Amino acid sequence: MHRGRFLLLGGFAALIGSVFFTSSTDAQPNTVQQIVPGVWFREGDIKKEGHCNNIIIEMKDYLIIVDANFPSGARLAAADAKKLSNKPIKYVFDTHHHGDHAYGNSVWTKMGATTLAYAGVTQEMKRYEPKRWAETNRKDVKDLKESTVEPPKQTFDKSPFVLDDGNRRVEFHFYGWAHTRGDGFVYLPKEQIIATGDAIANGPFNYMADGHIANWPNVADAVAKNKIKHVLPGHGRPGGIEVVKGQGKFMKEIYAGVQGLIKAGKTADDIQKMGMAKSLEASLKFSPESKTWIGDGLAGQAIATFEEITQKKPHGEISGGK
Ligand SMILES: [Zn+2]
Repeated sequence: MHRGRFLLLGGFAALIGSVFFTSSTDAQPNTVQQIVPGVWFREGDIKKEGHCNNIIIEMKDYLIIVDANFPSGARLAAADAKKLSNKPIKYVFDTHHHGDHAYGNSVWTKMGATTLAYAGVTQEMKRYEPKRWAETNRKDVKDLKESTVEPPKQTFDKSPFVLDDGNRRVEFHFYGWAHTRGDGFVYLPKEQIIATGDAIANGPFNYMADGHIANWPNVADAVAKNKIKHVLPGHGRPGGIEVVKGQGKFMKEIYAGVQGLIKAGKTADDIQKMGMAKSLEASLKFSPESKTWIGDGLAGQAIATFEEITQKKPHGEISGGK
């Protein structure tokens, strides 16, 4: 169906002698795109399925998958990986503990893979689980008939952890607390590719409840110090270094904007009302570069920022304790 429509449009474009461009920001759910030979980006269907993106990295003898996804997303990513290569999936890296990145863990380990993460991911699971697992209404999670998320089988606490088989070097980094206390990044120095999980998203996907909003721009700055040609985010389309810089800028601006509202005497209720009246965006005084990250979640993000500033601790400590 998708392909048919594409061909139809292509034919039409040829017929009238013009070219159609798809905006690079348009979602292309359930498509797989080669970034460089042996590295593929699979866009998850976040809208309908809540899935994250997956990255498939081909090593000499095996595959690495970035993010476990939800169980249903794990199966889709595994099926696509199988089409690309018959090498076994050896490692699946959880960029963080959220369900759309880690609840598929047991699906992968049952296939024989080792789930891998920065140690902070397991610690986050201890803070937030099994409560969130029990509260989910997702059928794919319920159908596993497991009582909680399966923690990563292998963790590292010294960053970076490195896999290098002579053909390809893959570095797993922790740059500090941004989206969660476990944010892991996958960096391929030769190819200048970085997979960022949700610490750097390309679009209005920032969920801040477990985050450290004040520190988020520092993490973006640390990421930006790498040589980067391709940014492969946990949600949204692939991009370049501008995605990292824009993400950091958005976080800086929402923080400063909310600080301004607090100084002007606004409460969380006021922010909620401003969000409903659609006056919030203007009063937070964003620069044009931040537009990509602004969406329906803005009021919730601003309230999380309000809570972090007024309670004087990272928001994750408000939502999940120390
Ligand atoms: Zn996510």
